Amino acid sequence: MSSDSSGNAALPCQDMRRRYRKKLFVIVIFSLVAGMVYWLYQYDHRIDTSADDLLKEALLECYKTKPQIRGQLHSDGPTIYAITPTYSRPVQKAELTRLSHTFMLVPDFHWIIVEDAPSPTSLVTKLLLRSGIPHTQLVAATPKKWKLKEKDANWKYPRGVIQRNRALEWLRENLDANRDKGVVYFADDDNAYSLEIFEEMRSTKGVSVWPVGLVGGLMVEKPLLNATTGRVAGWNSAWKPERPFPIDMAGFAINLELLLHHPEAKFSFDVEGGYQESEILRHITTRDKLEPKADKCTKVYVWHTRTEPPKLNQEQLLQKKGKRSDEGMEV
Ligand code: UDP
Ligand code: MN
Repeated sequence: MSSDSSGNAALPCQDMRRRYRKKLFVIVIFSLVAGMVYWLYQYDHRIDTSADDLLKEALLECYKTKPQIRGQLHSDGPTIYAITPTYSRPVQKAELTRLSHTFMLVPDFHWIIVEDAPSPTSLVTKLLLRSGIPHTQLVAATPKKWKLKEKDANWKYPRGVIQRNRALEWLRENLDANRDKGVVYFADDDNAYSLEIFEEMRSTKGVSVWPVGLVGGLMVEKPLLNATTGRVAGWNSAWKPERPFPIDMAGFAINLELLLHHPEAKFSFDVEGGYQESEILRHITTRDKLEPKADKCTKVYVWHTRTEPPKLNQEQLLQKKGKRSDEGMEV
């Protein structure tokens, strides 16, 4: 009886345990599947709602490019704010790609690109996102009166004036002299920059200066230093040497705090050709205060290269026939 009763008691108990295990198994599988579905939904949802198609494409490409560099470069020094005016033309993407691949390697760097266009272009937006460089994309279209035509000599009107002023306005609206430490540099899109120039300019207390290669009709235009004091005594410039600061836009940088303390410092259409640099600098410094960099101005770390416009005669013939070589492609 006792064995019978114990046998009878064991059977429902085993049955219950088996059913319990089955239930547990179903619950675990269900939770796993539900979790997976929820995760997939969230993932999909995140990409779909946070970006339009253009940004989505650029972001995905951005993850593929140089992940080992992005976000890892910090020097704890002041941020370099590089201001680049740019405009649409056949070589624009090539110029900005070259620039971005240099700037990617500079720590604590903020790129302010100002497009000479009525609204931001997808070419520039995508390029900036792909680069992973901290940036601000602005626009400021040059008024028709001041815009160079294809056949005009390039010295007819100053270029980049309102774009650089737009960037200065952004700095003044968004940064605080007491909080933000920085150095401001005007980095045109057609120059060639060596990484050393950014580390040279990072310690700028007021306005720093250095040689620029291939400009003003010379191999190098450079500040001349007083042998005893080591201060800037003049320049070797041959073109308009009478200018207060006979230097190129690529040859100086300004401390952010100093710039923010001089809201009147900007560029102007109302000055003679070649006087843009003197125009901004006359408000904020004097020759004797300039800080020479690049090994006492004996090294060249930036070149005023100019890109030759490409010959596109075959493309023009194609376009007359209603075709084009870059159909559906961004060049
Ligand atoms: N630029 C511009 N709009 C123009 C022409 C030039 O925004 O219509 C930009 C150009 O991309 C460059 C800067 O202004 O970053 C200076 O122009 P450029 O290099 O032609 O001047 P240069 O080297 O002759 O001083
Ligand atoms: Mn140039």
